[in-house]
Amino acid sequence: MTKTANSSTAVMWFRRDLRLRDNPALVAASQAAGGMVAGLFVVDEILLAGGSQARNDFMADALRHLDLSMKGELNLVAGGAVNEVVKLVKAVGAKQVFVTEEFTPYAIERDLAVASALQEIGAELVKVDSPYVIPPGVIKNLSGMPYKVFGGFRKVWESLSSEITTMKTPRVTWVNVGGAKAKVTTPKKIRPSYFGESVESQPETLPEASEAAALELIKEFATKSAEYGEDRNIPAISGTSRLSPYLRFGIVHPRQILAGVSRTNAGGITFASEIAWRDFYADVLFTNPHSRYEALQPKMGTLRSDYDEVAIERFQAWTRGQTGYPLVDAGMRQLLAEGWMHNRVRMVTASFLIKHLHVDWRWGAQWFMCNLIDGDIASNQHGWQWVAGTGTDAAPFHRIFNPTLQAERFDPTGSYIKRYVPELREVQVPECLRPMGGTLLGGLDYIAPIVDHNTERIEALARLAEISPEKSA
Ligand SMILES: Cc1cc2nc3c(=O)[nH]c(=O)nc-3n(C[C@H](O)[C@H](O)[C@H](O)COP(=O)(O)OP(=O)(O)OC[C@H]3O[C@@H](n4cnc5c(N)ncnc54)[C@H](O)[C@@H]3O)c2cc1C
Repeated sequence: MTKTANSSTAVMWFRRDLRLRDNPALVAASQAAGGMVAGLFVVDEILLAGGSQARNDFMADALRHLDLSMKGELNLVAGGAVNEVVKLVKAVGAKQVFVTEEFTPYAIERDLAVASALQEIGAELVKVDSPYVIPPGVIKNLSGMPYKVFGGFRKVWESLSSEITTMKTPRVTWVNVGGAKAKVTTPKKIRPSYFGESVESQPETLPEASEAAALELIKEFATKSAEYGEDRNIPAISGTSRLSPYLRFGIVHPRQILAGVSRTNAGGITFASEIAWRDFYADVLFTNPHSRYEALQPKMGTLRSDYDEVAIERFQAWTRGQTGYPLVDAGMRQLLAEGWMHNRVRMVTASFLIKHLHVDWRWGAQWFMCNLIDGDIASNQHGWQWVAGTGTDAAPFHRIFNPTLQAERFDPTGSYIKRYVPELREVQVPECLRPMGGTLLGGLDYIAPIVDHNTERIEALARLAEISPEKSA
């Protein structure tokens, strides 16, 4: 039900928590204001310009569902956060603005500016909860420092996360100040020149971005989570939860996922530890804000990458899924077709760009952010840094994924490859798993490999030896 504001109205500023269920910030807003809450979302052009069209469309759908669940009473406005929050606070006479705290460098800066503008008008920004099971900055080692490796972090995380509970949805009387709902459109995109004419992902269909759809996915995944340990590595099957876009926008909280998926078997335990990786990367970015764009390990950051015309051409071939390596091409084309890519293949494609094409990991990370619907700055940049060997808990650089062996091991029937690389549909295994191309594939239209695995492996190790002779051995 909608009511006019009164002196006790609170503002609930939704950001990465586009849900009503298990939302402690909303519960706190409702408690503080006797149920009178003005819900706000500010469409921020800066964030839209850097994201993918698909991610923005998914967010628009999430906002539509959120608004529906609020009986159409969401104050959905476009503009700068400071102006829009202050405007609504003044319009409803609120003294408090409740938010789920955010921890990325951009969000921290924005929230400082909003808090200070609110203070000037006698109101306050109240931060409750976080998009994580354990908020960044909480888990520390015995010396009181953030963990540098995942193993230690996970042990503490497991003990802290074993007791989590979820919250009931509060009864709220929504306060709406009227005005047209802002549209979520992608403004002029901000893109680096090396993207060239590469066409970005525009999936024909996207998953429904509603709380109900997320809860359904949890239920469905819970029935197969015992098999997660093995199934999560097979890109041809639906062995993972596909919850990442929902987590990205807080349509579901990881607490709700942990509450719905049993941790009493090996699969469930492995799954929970993936949720812990998400918390870990958020913690690493929070405690090392420079790692958004710079190598976490400065020495590894000096590894030589190429930026010349050949590198740009190779990068663009990679973006199109035209490297001549079937598993790499399938992954890159899955990204274009769905705005999502399987984790195993994210690792293989990222490794190929860095270690076979010698391109700076940041170029690839940016391409992923501009194409993924789950694009998340902490998980993405640190997923890339993990592969590049520049990050925390880094995979040793000298372990170079062989894309053909990866295909033989994780897509032995070629089902995944054939789904996304139609040129190879008529080619039998094992040929369809290997880089051959052109006439070697009986005149089929598949591209010949743009580089040779062995040659580039030696080159990657030589570059490693330049900065770290002992590691390249
Ligand atoms: C190069 C690279 C880039 C990545 N970029 C992103 C990104 O932008 N956004 C993103 O959410 N994930 C990213 N990941 C992590 C992982 O690939 C995705 O979270 C996963 O594929 C999402 O599918 P799912 O929901 O079915 O995962 P599940 O296997 O069902 O896992 C459940 C949840 O755990 C979390 N998770 C799983 N694996 C990881 C991981 N390695 N690191 C951090 N969190 C994890 C995710 O929130 C995921 O939704 C990246 C990984 C790599 C190697």
